[in-house]
Amino acid sequence: MSDYKDTLNLPKTDFPMKANLAQREPTLLKKWEDINLYQKLRAQGQSRPRFILHDGPPYANGHTHMGHAVNKTLKDIVVKAKTFSGFDVPYVPGWDCHGLPIELKVELKVGKPGRKVTATEFRQACREYAATQIDIQRTEFKRLGVLGDWENPYITMNFKYEADTIRSLAKIMRNGHVQKGYKPVYWCLDCASALAEAEVEYADKTSPAVDVRFAVVDEKDFLARFGNVSAKNISIPIWTTTPWTLPANQAVALNAEVEYVLVECDGKECLLVAEPLLPNILKRYDIQHHRVVGKIRGEKLENVQLRHPFAGRQVPVVLGEHVTVESGTGAVHTAPAHGIEDYDIGKKYNLPLENPVADDGCYISTTPIVAGKHVTQANDIIIETLKENHALLHLAKFSHSYPHCWRHKTPLIFRATPQWFISMEKNQLRAMALDAIKHVNWVPSWGQKRFYSMMEGRPDWCISRQRTWGVPIALFLHKETTEPHPNSVELMEKVAQRVEQTGIEAWYELDAKELLGDDAENYVKCRDILDVWFDSGVTHECVLRENPNLGFPADLYLEGSDQHRGWFQSSMLTSLAINEQAPYKTVLTHGYVIDLEGRKMSKSLGNVIAPEKVIQSLGADVLRLWVASIDYRAEINVSDEILTRTSETYRRLRNTARFLLANLEGFDPENNLVAPEKMLALDKFIVNKARTLQDEIIQAYDAYQFHLIYQKIHYFCTVDLGSFYLDIIKDRQYTTPTNSLARRSAQSAMFHIAEALVRWLAPILSFTAEEIWQYLPGKRNESVFLTTWYAFPALAEDRVMNQVYWEKLREVRDAVNKEIEAQRNAGKIGSALEASVQLYCDDELKSQLDKLGDELRFFLITSGAEVQFANSSLPNDVIATDVAGLSVKVNALSYAKCERCWHRREDVGVNKEHPTLCGRCVENITGVGEVRRYA
Ligand SMILES: [Zn+2]
Ligand SMILES: [Zn+2]
Repeated sequence: MSDYKDTLNLPKTDFPMKANLAQREPTLLKKWEDINLYQKLRAQGQSRPRFILHDGPPYANGHTHMGHAVNKTLKDIVVKAKTFSGFDVPYVPGWDCHGLPIELKVELKVGKPGRKVTATEFRQACREYAATQIDIQRTEFKRLGVLGDWENPYITMNFKYEADTIRSLAKIMRNGHVQKGYKPVYWCLDCASALAEAEVEYADKTSPAVDVRFAVVDEKDFLARFGNVSAKNISIPIWTTTPWTLPANQAVALNAEVEYVLVECDGKECLLVAEPLLPNILKRYDIQHHRVVGKIRGEKLENVQLRHPFAGRQVPVVLGEHVTVESGTGAVHTAPAHGIEDYDIGKKYNLPLENPVADDGCYISTTPIVAGKHVTQANDIIIETLKENHALLHLAKFSHSYPHCWRHKTPLIFRATPQWFISMEKNQLRAMALDAIKHVNWVPSWGQKRFYSMMEGRPDWCISRQRTWGVPIALFLHKETTEPHPNSVELMEKVAQRVEQTGIEAWYELDAKELLGDDAENYVKCRDILDVWFDSGVTHECVLRENPNLGFPADLYLEGSDQHRGWFQSSMLTSLAINEQAPYKTVLTHGYVIDLEGRKMSKSLGNVIAPEKVIQSLGADVLRLWVASIDYRAEINVSDEILTRTSETYRRLRNTARFLLANLEGFDPENNLVAPEKMLALDKFIVNKARTLQDEIIQAYDAYQFHLIYQKIHYFCTVDLGSFYLDIIKDRQYTTPTNSLARRSAQSAMFHIAEALVRWLAPILSFTAEEIWQYLPGKRNESVFLTTWYAFPALAEDRVMNQVYWEKLREVRDAVNKEIEAQRNAGKIGSALEASVQLYCDDELKSQLDKLGDELRFFLITSGAEVQFANSSLPNDVIATDVAGLSVKVNALSYAKCERCWHRREDVGVNKEHPTLCGRCVENITGVGEVRRYA
């Protein structure tokens, strides 16, 4: 019958309830592109302090995965939050383009360089392939909502970058950190190349373990070292799991400090072994009767000559601290070409560094027994020979953790090759690094200790690779000495100038005569390329220092914790070698993305969640919200279920925004905003609460604790707003006159909150925040990202009805609600508005509740509320609550329900013209409207 729609201020908004992010997000991306948001931000940031988050370049190969999504989103959150904090935050993304993975991909397409295609054609194919991969990844990163200079990224295969990489190497040479050496390096037979430390992973492998006799050549001399002892048929057995390295054996190492015993075994022969290992050895060799003939410290046996078991040469006993008595015999087979400790000891004793294994993994022609054979075939042949030569004491299978190629998953060998190194010691690089680490801020803080111990223990950095697709080590090497030209630093600059014009091809096309003149005939061009970790390691030099929009050092490097071993090290070392300064002030790391069982994502496990798919089904904002919600310091779990839960949280946040927008419909801040001092007490309270929260949120953004922000915003929206403030003010919004203070005050509070909330959300829910921004009333910038944190009005807290007061009243409200809920469950009432409540309070609480006066019922959302002293004789049906000094009684009301405000009041129908309304509603639609002061 009656229709009060005209007078009821039912909130409505065009802001869509359904997010449809997959469809809506691309239109917002287009908007940002159309208004040229990135450039606008740079223009706006001219006068601001700069904050440099330097992008670690992803490798330009394949679609982006969840690890990329986490990394880029975290960076984007930092960039945007810092912008809101008033910084100019340029973000120049980059790509790493040279290196083996691309070579291998391109080999599949065009064949190996030098076979079907020339090296030049091969490099061109690599260049083209990398460019297509950059395009794929760029599109995907942009779709994620990451704001950056996508049109001008840094790309390590750009000619200028390639030239600057060579210049960086020249600077490091000039400062005395580069060293040439023949060193055993991890060598992958499948890559046919030396590997970087970061390319090595460990896996179990079963190897043949052999105990081999090395016979003493001069027994008389040997026994003389013991004093008065007689023995014959003497050998020193060694134990090794790599029989294939025996052709390169140049010594047997003992520990100077260890006691060795000479033992007669079954009357046939005498063996020298470490005393602590004797019981094991007797068992392993199955010796029935033994007799210790003599005892001696290792140091006394230095330089004893032994007979190599098949190479026909003598090798000395040497002393080394790396020899232990944990396993084996206490005598260690030493092949300087195949092991780093062996190499070091070889240098000390001046042993030959003969390396019998060629680049292709086959033994060179002068190798005894196995010449021309591949190393993988050698073990069997060598074991046979040992048997024939009566040199094999024992053979067993041995399972151990062994270095493998991270790409091929095949076992590596250690192989001495001529290589270029950045030396950790030659010019104090390690000492510089260990000092610099202390002055960097590590987030989380355990990163410092981890990085320090890695730096403390790391070997020299081998920067040379024998591959095709990379920046050349542009050195002219003397044909006889293989030493670099004395003017190398100047020559490299000349090469760099050419590379800047035509790319790395310039080096291969260069005729040495052009730069060296007649001297050219004494030199050859170095054919090695740089380790690709060098390329990305020098971004501080080629990007931070070269791009005028950036700066050195960076404020922040932010990558996965695996980069403690990778990019953080290569960047630190090259920066110290060039600048004697760390390239970053803060290093932030995040964990790996794993599935619920703790496994890494891989195609073969079938547990891959592709960011692309998530964006298509749930939207980029849900993915971003998930990233914000995780404590990224540990490993990061993801599953479809987790993402679904996140999208539910997203919906709650969106609905809060929608409720605020609906209530602001028709609100013109210029004309309707209520001055802070005139606002109702409850509205002041919630605005103050939001302002306090904003401080906490900004603090958490500054500390990179995004999961706290997620929790705080979520709590504020669901608890403080959803089930408290917004619940209470509904009555005012629906029933008081449009232009009344009661309504405008609440709207003003919601306006302040919405203004703040949209900014808190923007770094995380970038798309949704921009969408909300468009619906907010009042004149505003064309993008939320062109603003700073919301400046709340100066809002003096009410002296009496302050935060403490309202928090106390929330407790009362919760206690009353609990009792109402009990009555509802008992079927006594339908809704809270069908009840009135009587509150029995002690003195103090009563005086607090009395301050609300008639407005208490609106605060409690009941049709009536009465406060009484709790004296000794309370009625029987009064219930004591959890709040000290408060008991409560809920009464069902039989009054008619006002059609407009739904309160049950005695005066419904008293006004005959409005028979379905309560007196308050009649006043609100026909008179000047009710006056509300507090709630
Ligand atoms: Zn490999
Ligand atoms: Zn009413």
